[in-house]
Amino acid sequence: MGKSTNSAIFLDNAATTRTDPEVVAAMLPWLEQNFGSPATLYSMGSEAKQAIESARQSLAGLIGAESKDIFFTSGATESNNWVIKGVAEARAGKGRHIITNEAEHHSILMPLRHLEKKGWDVTYLPVDSDGLVDPDAVAASIRPDTVLITMVHANHEIGTIQPITEIGRIARESGVAFHVNAAQTVGHIPVDVQALGADLLSLSGHKFYGPKGVGALYIKRGVRIIPLLHGGSQEKKRRAGTHNVPGIVGLGEAARIASRDLVAEADQLGSLRDYIFAWVEENIEDVRINGHRRRRLPNNVNFSLEGIEGESIMLSLSYPTAEGARPVFISTGSACVSGSLEPSHILLALGMPAELAHGSVRISMAKGETREEIDYALEAIAAVAGRLREMSPVYKRGNKKCAAFDKTEGCDCEAAG
Ligand SMILES: *Cc1c(COP(=O)(O)O)cnc(C)c1O
Repeated sequence: MGKSTNSAIFLDNAATTRTDPEVVAAMLPWLEQNFGSPATLYSMGSEAKQAIESARQSLAGLIGAESKDIFFTSGATESNNWVIKGVAEARAGKGRHIITNEAEHHSILMPLRHLEKKGWDVTYLPVDSDGLVDPDAVAASIRPDTVLITMVHANHEIGTIQPITEIGRIARESGVAFHVNAAQTVGHIPVDVQALGADLLSLSGHKFYGPKGVGALYIKRGVRIIPLLHGGSQEKKRRAGTHNVPGIVGLGEAARIASRDLVAEADQLGSLRDYIFAWVEENIEDVRINGHRRRRLPNNVNFSLEGIEGESIMLSLSYPTAEGARPVFISTGSACVSGSLEPSHILLALGMPAELAHGSVRISMAKGETREEIDYALEAIAAVAGRLREMSPVYKRGNKKCAAFDKTEGCDCEAAG
């Protein structure tokens, strides 16, 4: 799956993955011959209905849930919005306090900001310099009016995996609903709603080789939540709108494939990830590995290069000038060209100085990724980094304080720059 048509090397799989050819094949009949709506009673409709139920079972199996607790949505953004707005509305009589952390995805942070404007109180817990939330801090922030704790399973930028089981136990003991955004973990590492203690869990098809625009929300039986979409009786009247049949079938197929391949994929990518870290530290100066070294996604690598704009690296790699050179697609936590000088809020939440956050790059791999492609990408990154540093007015060989920053002590690279 690492290869794509124009021989580009795609290493931005945390943003989206290529749809697995097996998934595409499973979807096609539901686009071509059987386009019936599952809401109709003639045979075409009932076949579509069966296909949806079979996808629901396969997805439930992947996350250790019962299929009746799975609700299909348009993706993790919708699932996250549904949880935050739907649980808030259902529990408003009990209290108006929600707990999360500073390094969450925007599809969590923005609905929470929306609630804050309507008088809700949100606690944004800090993360440490590896991106971890302290479960004791979660316990300490619970109040009598707390109705929801929402935590990401693994961070999409730095790959750090949160101590979800511990936080789940704390939530259960306090009787607070617990939501896990598992968009980055489902299909990549084992996810079991019981073991995690999740009352609600969001996931997204296109993050694990399924189609875009389809996802699901797991809602444990008995958890109170008001619908986000009204207007039809689909999904037991909890999510209105004609089912995305091809998308749901594709999601089910992606789940079936993940149940089969996940452990081998995690093994293979985990060794490649550790190889990249070792290579980068060996071959590039003034680099800082971002995120927890071991408690992280097997397919995620993130590091900061002092004295460089991540965006310059990203653009140079995607438009290589040398003849025959392969484009390499990675992502960065810096966003100067898009008009804002704000680096990623996630990197800043680690306590990282803005200068260093601007020099961050993320490599996120897909199953089947090869050592050969990774070596090509690493050589290209090192070459571009060297060139950019030669031209950089801020990069000073003598100043290595940034790459070794500490969350409590900080660093004074600004003064040296
Ligand atoms: C991709 C992603 C989302 C959004 O998912 P969509 O299905 O694209 O809406 C939310 N949270 C995390 C952590 C993600 O990685």
